[in-house]
Amino acid sequence: MPLSPASATGLDRLAPGRPRWLLWAVLVLLVAVLLGTLIWLAGRYEAERVQGQLELDATEAVGELRSGMSRNLQSLQTLQINDPSPNAWTIDAASILREHRELVRLEWRDEGLRIRSVVDTPFQPDLFERMGRDSAQSDVQQACVAAQRLSGPAYAPSYFLPTNNGMGVELMEMCLPLVSSGRRVGFLVASYSLQGLLDELSTRQPMRNHEISLTEGDGTRLAVWGAQRRGSRVFTAQQLLDLPGGTTLVLRLNSWRQAPDFFPNLLTALVAAMTLALVSILALLANDMRHRQRAERDLADALAFRKAMEDSLVTGLRARDLRGRITYVNPAFCEMVGFEAAELLGHGVPAPYWPPELVDEYQQRQAIRLAGNVPPREGYESVFMRKDGTRFPVLIIEAPLINAQGVQTGWMSAFVDISEQRRVQELSRASHERLQATARLAMVGEMASLLSHELNQPLAAISSYATGSVNLLQDPATDVDGLKADLALPLQRIAEQAERAGRVIKSVHDFVRRREQAREAVTAQALLDAILPLVSLQARKLGVQVDTVLWPDLPAVLCDKTMVEQVILNLARNAMQAMEQVSDDARVLTLSVALAPPEGTEPRVQFSVADRGPGISENVQQQLFTPFFTTKAEGMGLGLSLCRTVVEQHGGTLEYASNAPRGTVFTFSLPAAPLA
Ligand code: ADP
Repeated sequence: MPLSPASATGLDRLAPGRPRWLLWAVLVLLVAVLLGTLIWLAGRYEAERVQGQLELDATEAVGELRSGMSRNLQSLQTLQINDPSPNAWTIDAASILREHRELVRLEWRDEGLRIRSVVDTPFQPDLFERMGRDSAQSDVQQACVAAQRLSGPAYAPSYFLPTNNGMGVELMEMCLPLVSSGRRVGFLVASYSLQGLLDELSTRQPMRNHEISLTEGDGTRLAVWGAQRRGSRVFTAQQLLDLPGGTTLVLRLNSWRQAPDFFPNLLTALVAAMTLALVSILALLANDMRHRQRAERDLADALAFRKAMEDSLVTGLRARDLRGRITYVNPAFCEMVGFEAAELLGHGVPAPYWPPELVDEYQQRQAIRLAGNVPPREGYESVFMRKDGTRFPVLIIEAPLINAQGVQTGWMSAFVDISEQRRVQELSRASHERLQATARLAMVGEMASLLSHELNQPLAAISSYATGSVNLLQDPATDVDGLKADLALPLQRIAEQAERAGRVIKSVHDFVRRREQAREAVTAQALLDAILPLVSLQARKLGVQVDTVLWPDLPAVLCDKTMVEQVILNLARNAMQAMEQVSDDARVLTLSVALAPPEGTEPRVQFSVADRGPGISENVQQQLFTPFFTTKAEGMGLGLSLCRTVVEQHGGTLEYASNAPRGTVFTFSLPAAPLA
């Protein structure tokens, strides 16, 4: 089921193309707008609340001023009760002035506005010293005219009175007509200090935080009482103070707000906190998203890499659960057996790729595996069947499948199709055999002169016996009766010699003849007998004495006879050639066969070929078994390498050592044939 890694994991939904950053930008923008609006609304609400409070304070302040002034009026009216003497009046008036700092002067004037009695405030006694009281006469008049008209208290517009200290005060005259027994008897004139009025007002709690000022209708500031300015933002509220007599003052409150008052109430603080929380959450979310995306990307990469790896593997992979059902196969496995993954997944035993004739055997193997037996680490060979019915050899390496919790959930197997390997092995075996055959022929070629020499003797003997017989027949003196007896001996000799020649030829033929590789039980004696005629041929030529030493009661060996013969012959030939340079009497070749020292479980028979030659130099030793290495002019350098291969094929090793007192001894062992 070839799936692309992305669709296999559903990661394609995350595929690029959709501008994800745009969504984020819109989200962030929306949140920013929302929060901005919330903060703005909260700020506006707060401003309105502050403004409302200020308006309320202004109204209250004006009310306060009014009621203060009317309370003052009442106090002033009490001054005239019971027609006081000027002295008594002065005492009472002074006490009023002490209590009310906003009043700076009280005058009792007669009907012609002439002063009858006067008291100045004790706090600023020399107020009128600089300008004199007459400067305010017009204001007093204006107030009293109005008071007369209204028959009640009346206020004149305020005026500025410079004082001795170079400063000045804003004063306002109030005139109260005095009536006794229904007749006007004079006026009471009170001078108000506007600053004093504000000072009085500022003692009230809500006013302490504001700047309070009294201004004219056109905004000209007359008096001001200022609280400390604590902020950059100013709120203003103003109220009209209409006084009898047509005078109107404006009371103005200014309130400054500080920057921390940006969050002055719970709502704004809450909104701000929420904003912060929201922004932090957004940041966290974005961060989390980034991590998640990176993790997903890494995961997709890892998956794609794993998938690519699985797809490009030439080794077949298969996973099975503990009940033997196939849970996973890779493309290489599908290709190997020729089935689709869908046909294999979920399939139990017998698997569709098991050859029917081997199902029983495989089922047993499976049962052993499922019983918890761990298979050999190096794997085992088996035969599978393709969908088209063809069989092929596989190497299976199996291991338990352990999950993340350390629990075995099944078996994981790797498969290698070893058909090709087998074919190569077969080829190499065949070429090896051909090489052996060639080597044999080469050896025979080397021996050709020996052979001709060897055959010469019987042939010469046959020839001379034949000539003798012919001569006998042609000789007229030959006794016909005795002819039979005379010919019998030479003819018998001819037959013997022909047989001898035939044996020489047969030994060569037997050696050269190529046969299929086959293991058979052979006695050591038989092996030696087969090669001794050929060994003797060369031994005679080189003047070598051949000794054979055979232990008694040796078991037969299990071997490929032809190959082993070639090994012994080759070693014997090397040994004889090595002794060419030594003196005649020292040329001894010893072929011995003994029981090998016990090593493994099976008994082995050891063959050794010893010479008394010069030994093998260290230089030659290093390349001894290298194919085509030779020190001889006519040598091929294949002998020892082929010998070693043959010996190893029989489970042994070809070794060599120095022979005492001189020379070399080559040894190898062959497995003993089991006793029949
Ligand atoms: P070849 O006989 O064709 O040279 P071999 O593989 O049989 O090839 O031998 C390789 C070489 O090993 C020989 O050329 C010889 O130098 C050395 N060698 C083999 N057997 C002996 C021996 N018994 N004593 C000394 N040298 C030997």
